[in-house]
Amino acid sequence: MHLVIRQAEIVNADGRTRGDVLVRGGHIVQVADQVSPPAGEPLESIDAGGMLLLPGGLDPHVHMHLPTAAGFSSDDFVSGSRAALLGGTTTLIDFVTPRRGMSLTDALAARLMEARRCHTDYSFHVSPVEWRDSTAAEIRDCIAAGLPSFKLYMAYKDSIGIDEEVMAKVMRTVAKEGGMVTVHCETGDEVDRLRRELAESGQTGPASHPESRPPHTESQAVEKAIALCAQTACPVYIVHVSAAASIEHIRKAQSAGLPVMAEVCPHHLLLDESVYDAPFEQAAPFVLSPPLRSESDRNALWGALADGTVEVVGTDHCPFFMEQKAAGRNDFRLIANGAGGVEHRLALIYTHGVLEGRISHERWVALCSTGPARLFGLYPRKGRICRGADADMVLWDPHASEIVSAARHHHRSDISIYEGMTLRGKARMVIKSGKVVVEDGQQRRQPAGSFLRRKVPEKGQ
Ligand SMILES: [Zn+2]
Repeated sequence: MHLVIRQAEIVNADGRTRGDVLVRGGHIVQVADQVSPPAGEPLESIDAGGMLLLPGGLDPHVHMHLPTAAGFSSDDFVSGSRAALLGGTTTLIDFVTPRRGMSLTDALAARLMEARRCHTDYSFHVSPVEWRDSTAAEIRDCIAAGLPSFKLYMAYKDSIGIDEEVMAKVMRTVAKEGGMVTVHCETGDEVDRLRRELAESGQTGPASHPESRPPHTESQAVEKAIALCAQTACPVYIVHVSAAASIEHIRKAQSAGLPVMAEVCPHHLLLDESVYDAPFEQAAPFVLSPPLRSESDRNALWGALADGTVEVVGTDHCPFFMEQKAAGRNDFRLIANGAGGVEHRLALIYTHGVLEGRISHERWVALCSTGPARLFGLYPRKGRICRGADADMVLWDPHASEIVSAARHHHRSDISIYEGMTLRGKARMVIKSGKVVVEDGQQRRQPAGSFLRRKVPEKGQ
C-alpha cells in the first residue's frame, strides 16, 4: 500500500518547497514536484492543498506516569501519547528514574513495561540518582541499549538530586562513551533552605513557590553545569531554561566553543509570574519548576529561540488533577509540581512564534522536531521530510483555530494552564509510520509506538 500526499507546502528546518510525498511501508520513499506511484498497487491519496506538511513533532521532555509525593502525574503513556498525536507530536522522550539503590538497567526494564502501549514512538533519558560501584557499567549498558542521554537533577536532593562531585563522575563516564547529559539546573540547597524559611515564617501560599526559586537559583546552577561541561568535556543540554541570566551564561559558553545546548518550554515563553498573585485555586495550577518568570525573562527566551542559542522547545509535560494540587492548600511545598502541555506545543509556538513574527516557519519546525531529533541521535530518521525518513508527518491547517480548555483537551487532567487561550493552526491530519492516525483532528487509529534505539549523536551535527 502506497500513500501519496499531493501538492503540499513541505516545511523542513532548512526551507520550504511545494510538492508531493510518496510513502511506503512506514517510510518516505520519494519527495518531488510530482511523484509517480507504481501502477497496479493500491494507493491512498491525500490532497494537501492549502496545508503545510511538517515532519512529526518530537517532544524530548515529558513525564508520563511519574511517581511523586502527590501521586502519579495524571497522564500515563497511553493518554499522554494520544494527546501528543492529536497535537502533531509523533515521538516522545520520557525518563527512566530509578529509586536509590536500584540499577539504571533494572529501572529501564520496568519503564519499558510501563511504556509498552505508548501510541507514539518513544525513548528515554536515564537518570543516575547516585554514584554506585556499578554506575559506570550501567551507563555503558544504557548507551548500548540505545539510550545515550542522561538526566541529572541539581535540585530535589532528598530524592533524585545529586551533588557536583557525583555529577562530575557521571559526566566523565558519559563523555568517554560519546553520550550527553541533560541537566535540571536549580541550586537545590538554596531552594530547599528558602522553601523551609518561607514555610516556617507562615508564608504557605502558592506565591511562595516562585519566591523560593528566584532566577539566580537557576542561573547559578547553569554556571556550575557549564563549568562541569568545561571540566569533563561532556556535552550538556540544559532543560527548561527560564531566566534571562541563564541565557547569557549559555550564550557565552557557546561562543567559547563549549558543547552546551538548551531547551525552553512553552509555559516560560507565554505565561508570567503574575499568575501566582491569586487565590489558591487559581494560582496552584501554575506551580511548576522552575517557576514562571517576568516579562523581560520571556523576551530573552524568545530572543534565544530566534538567534539559535536555544535549539529545542520541549514541554516538561507533567499534568496533575486539581485534587493533587490541593494537597498543598496549607503548604505550598506539597502542591503537585508540574503542568500539561504536550498536546498544544506545536500550536502554541505557531500562534505566538510564527504568527506574531518572532520566528519563521522553518525555525518552528527546527525547534519542535528537527533540533531535538538531531541532538538526541534520531536524525534524519526523525525530524525531516526526506527520502528514507520515517513517515511521521503532520498536515497543518494554518486557518484552523481553537480555544484551549480542560473540558476539551486530551490530557488526563481537569486543569489547563492555557485555559481560554486562542490557538491558531491545528494538526488536521497526522501520519505515523506511514499510516493516517489522526484525521480531521480526530484519532482514527490507535497506533503502536516503537521503542527507539538512539545513536550517539555525531559531533557538530
Ligand atoms: Zn521535567
